[in-house]
Amino acid sequence: MGTTCTLVAVVPAAQRPRATEALDRAEATLRRVEALMSVWLADSEISHLNSTLAHREVPLSPDTRHLLRAAQHAAAATGGAFDVTIQPLIQLWRSAGERGLLPTQADIDRARSASNWDMIELTDVGAVTHGEGFSADLGGIAKGYAIDRALEDLQSSGAAGGIVDVGGDLSCFGRPPIGEEWLVDIESPFPETDLGELRIPSGAVCTSGNYARFTTIEGTRYSHIIDPRSGRPADAVPSVTVVAPEATTADIWATALSVLGPDGIFVLPREAEALIVLGPQPDRRTICTPGFLEFLQDPPDALTVWESDQPSHQPG
Ligand code: AMP
Ligand code: MG
Repeated sequence: MGTTCTLVAVVPAAQRPRATEALDRAEATLRRVEALMSVWLADSEISHLNSTLAHREVPLSPDTRHLLRAAQHAAAATGGAFDVTIQPLIQLWRSAGERGLLPTQADIDRARSASNWDMIELTDVGAVTHGEGFSADLGGIAKGYAIDRALEDLQSSGAAGGIVDVGGDLSCFGRPPIGEEWLVDIESPFPETDLGELRIPSGAVCTSGNYARFTTIEGTRYSHIIDPRSGRPADAVPSVTVVAPEATTADIWATALSVLGPDGIFVLPREAEALIVLGPQPDRRTICTPGFLEFLQDPPDALTVWESDQPSHQPG
């Protein structure tokens, strides 16, 4: 996944071999999900689906089918802001970055017309694509899914607690090695703004933002997250952190809110809480859902809480 992973299993000292076994199993799960879902691996299932001609059913593993269904549900729930079929747009902007030249509107329109859920049909055993140029990218969701599956391995091992951290996105359960709750640093897009630490009893924390990964074209920074509605890199907000029971949910919604900005809070599932850093300077502010406050050790300066008389989140 192009990043560093940290796995922790908390067991009594006498049960060390059990922890080692659980950690090995969780690591194997992370590698298995990566091997299935990475578009960077030519022999992954998703690469195979992307390179198969239209109208031919491609058998897929239960994991990939499950994930594609979750992605389809997310596309509907986010009004299309989260859409894994946008790989043609991702590729367009990636190659624009490599060349240092902005794409033309015609290029964007062409890539947009190939980025569409109507072009894929999920079947009982796999998927069939329709039309030319279909290509999916699971980069905004697969990490979360892998974290959930790996955490299950730690939980089923009987460990008293554990955490799976993949490049700063993570999920945890039970008790940490020290203290009562897991402490999680939130990375700030602005070095001068300290967002502090989260106190998480259990559950997932995922952060998306254009501060860490971006391309510079003609002197302007462009996010790696695409707004499928315009076909252009999202520029709504610099950073979003979502806490949810499952990392798949947190991963989806951190990416989706990066596209939707604060308005996305109105469609956030009830089980998810979000913190959004607004920017850029000088009116830098941070907003969060009321439930997010529970996790914040020291709420940052200039924090606005979206009060409960705002429309409540939708059921998940
Ligand atoms: P994340 O870091 O979880 O926000 O995921 C970002 C990655 O998700 C990008 O590098 C793309 O692979 C993919 N992606 C970008 N824009 C979108 C989008 N609007 N919907 C779904 N996936 C996206
Ligand atoms: Mg994501």
